[in-house]
Amino acid sequence: MPHSNDTTPSLLHEAGQQSHQSEFFNPVPDGYVRGRHKYLVVLGTVMSGLGKGIFSSSLTKLLKDKGLTIAPLKMEGYLNIDSGTLNPYRHGEVFVLDDGMETDMDLGTYERLLDQNLTRDNYTTSGQIYRRVLDKERHGGYLGRDVQMIPHVTGEVKMMVRQLAMKQNADLVCIEVGGTVGDHENAFYIEAMRQLAFEEGPGSVAFVALTYVIEPPALGEQKSKAAQLGLKKLMEAGIQPHIVAVRCQSPVEASAREKIAMFSNVPLNRVFSMHDRESVYTIPEDLRKTGMDREVLSLLDLHGRVNQVHEDEERERWRKFVADIKRKRAHKVTIGLTGKYASLRDAYASIDKAIEHAAARLHAQVNIEWIDTTKLTPEQVPDRLASMDAVIVPGGFGVRGTEAKIACVRHCRETGLPYLGICLGFQMAVIDYARYVCNINGASSTEFDPQAPHPVIDILPEQKKIEGLGGNMRLGGKDVLIKPDTLAAHLFGNPAKPATEPFTIRQRFRHRFEVDPRHIETLEASGLVFSGRHPEHPIMQILELPPDKHPFFIGAQFHPELTSRPLRPQPMFMGLMAAAIQHANPEAEPEPTRDRWLAQCETPQNTQVPA
Ligand code: GLN
Repeated sequence: MPHSNDTTPSLLHEAGQQSHQSEFFNPVPDGYVRGRHKYLVVLGTVMSGLGKGIFSSSLTKLLKDKGLTIAPLKMEGYLNIDSGTLNPYRHGEVFVLDDGMETDMDLGTYERLLDQNLTRDNYTTSGQIYRRVLDKERHGGYLGRDVQMIPHVTGEVKMMVRQLAMKQNADLVCIEVGGTVGDHENAFYIEAMRQLAFEEGPGSVAFVALTYVIEPPALGEQKSKAAQLGLKKLMEAGIQPHIVAVRCQSPVEASAREKIAMFSNVPLNRVFSMHDRESVYTIPEDLRKTGMDREVLSLLDLHGRVNQVHEDEERERWRKFVADIKRKRAHKVTIGLTGKYASLRDAYASIDKAIEHAAARLHAQVNIEWIDTTKLTPEQVPDRLASMDAVIVPGGFGVRGTEAKIACVRHCRETGLPYLGICLGFQMAVIDYARYVCNINGASSTEFDPQAPHPVIDILPEQKKIEGLGGNMRLGGKDVLIKPDTLAAHLFGNPAKPATEPFTIRQRFRHRFEVDPRHIETLEASGLVFSGRHPEHPIMQILELPPDKHPFFIGAQFHPELTSRPLRPQPMFMGLMAAAIQHANPEAEPEPTRDRWLAQCETPQNTQVPA
């Protein structure tokens, strides 16, 4: 039976037990020590989409820099088990974790800002919670009781939170409750968090409320009424916030902050103005300047766990990155990004960020042009790409716009325009090469032409058996074996020590289709290089053209954007950026050798040693 090691009298003594005499239901994992793990709970008021994830990841970054172990947890209100089936147009991109979990784009924000890989334990949905409860019910886990929202569903939430704390040995679990207080979907999460604070006791749980101050142009002043009402709604749910972050277009004026402080019982120094900024990367330092990090340490009694030396080092590293982000950029480049969801930036959030990381490192000012290939004929492509310095064809599903994408690849390949193909963009490059270099008429993918005479891209059941996934999506981090003396080896290898032997890297996948191995020989005989493969099976994972054919043409069956981090830009994006800079300034180096500009692509990610 679950129990607590804690000896102080507390409700936790009822751990996991529920009798007819008691209404307490406080499931606690075996070996849980109360006081060891602290909790920061971030909730939204007034409206969603205020940037809870950005605020909480910025605040937790500050705390991580102090040497604390952080476990973020995103609680989603929807009933889907994961984000895999969600339309990125409505919901933003699907962010794939290393363990294969398909999650919300906020997990990407946490991974990037904390520079930390997360797992399926760091993400939950209402669907997952209900499933756990219903599974338990079917297995007779509730001892004859009727199963209720309170205490059983809320109990499951608390159990999950504590299990995460123990499993990741967290000093601080940072819980972000999706949606807004007052929603039906998240009401049980909010109630569970209230109970958590009650059970863990004072100094264990701190609540942060995000809110919104409106600036109606007709009035010309900031109005805090909606914020006050939103915070009241939270307090009606039994939660007293400790910190309030106020979203606003311009810096929140003292009078509005004072009103918010007064009506929510939160000291003024803990009411933070989260106005629009030139860059969200300055939020951690702005928070530090207001002393918010120390406030959290005091609220949760964490001062004793701080490592000052670590904090100083991390702060300096971050300061340099922010300076790079803010400085005037030397090189102006235009990158074309094709996509069905071209009008919605959130659908490509990680690509946008990966470009930002590489651009900051190489001092490039990037203009991203969204190319809607569903509105483009292949004949219009050369004109449309005339002003680009590089093109990315990102991941995607379905047939719409694919012919124009293939035409984009072809244009890049034939004119020397730098190209990066991601997942579907890799497959488009294979189709282009098969059709127009190997002359395989009708080369296509069974994804959009099931009757294609030559499906060079196909679902291969025998491969799926090997991977043990039986026709489903191939998901998550996998090894890729890199061939020496290739562009990929140059990008992913240690520039100081070029690899002479194959070596492996780890990248994240999300695909169902792949190159049919029967065509590999033909494609390679015509000059296409498969420089990254599955270590054992004939699954092609990186393709490229050699330097005598093209300055920078590369494709990946995986998603390089998912592992780019501000201080460790992803090598393929670094390569593309360097090539784009070269393309934009051809006179800078009239006859550049590939090696010369690739030498700039050094990043802490290309430190892999030969396998
Ligand atoms: N639709 C392709 C596949 O399933 C590509 C997937 C992707 O781009 N993420 O293989």
